Amino acid sequence: MKNYHTHTFRCKHAIGDVADYVEAAAARGISVLGFADHTPLPDGRWSSIRMAVEDLPGYVGAIEQAKKDNPQMTILKGMECEWAAEYHSFFRDVLLGEFGLDYLVLGCHQFPINGGWQSSHTAPNDAAYLAAYTKHLIASMQSGLFAFVAHPDLFGLTYLEWDEEAEAAARDILSAAEELNLPLEINGLGLSHRVVQTSLGPRTAYPWLPFWELAAEFDVQVVVNSDAHQPQGVAQGLREGLMFARKLGLTLAEFDHLGG
Ligand SMILES: [Zn+2]
Ligand SMILES: [Zn+2]
Repeated sequence: MKNYHTHTFRCKHAIGDVADYVEAAAARGISVLGFADHTPLPDGRWSSIRMAVEDLPGYVGAIEQAKKDNPQMTILKGMECEWAAEYHSFFRDVLLGEFGLDYLVLGCHQFPINGGWQSSHTAPNDAAYLAAYTKHLIASMQSGLFAFVAHPDLFGLTYLEWDEEAEAAARDILSAAEELNLPLEINGLGLSHRVVQTSLGPRTAYPWLPFWELAAEFDVQVVVNSDAHQPQGVAQGLREGLMFARKLGLTLAEFDHLGG
């Protein structure tokens, strides 16, 4: 099994360090483990839920050390990033350049609307917000910096009914992914822990089934990751996510170019 989306204590809402996740991953038969903690941002925005810029050397150092200590496992250095034009050069020149990260993951946890930023986790159940999320997600995908998109259907957490607007948003995201040849993530944390109540009863917030049923109509690739925030969750949702993808006939992406 492979997992390219792992956090550490540095983001302030996960527990455990790199070595703890590696140990848990080895015990669960994971052969490729990629770290993608929440990126620091040079202006300190949203600093309560991400690592600080000063933590970068320690993060990269801990992963380098784990690679030396665990030659039997492929361990990769990544980062989960909210893209915005003002951060583009930091991601490219500092994260990929200076710190030599293997890959960046796009996580659209914030999007601009009405002159400010809105958290994707607390957005109103409203079509205008869904449209703003979709627009920003696609602009972020078009930046060309990312190896894959984490939880592209995160909007399923707050936009509750699958209606025309939801389908249009999904089609726009899936068309962009197809055009850019950018894999989309089936998120194990969502699969195992994120349920929302809707007028039709409870459902998994993300992965949101109709989004992925629609994905099967597009020429897109998918990746299944645990999005672990604690070592014992390092394999959460991986088997279920692979079954989910297989049932829908979705194609798994290969990341051999990352060394895994
Ligand atoms: Zn995320
Ligand atoms: Zn994450």
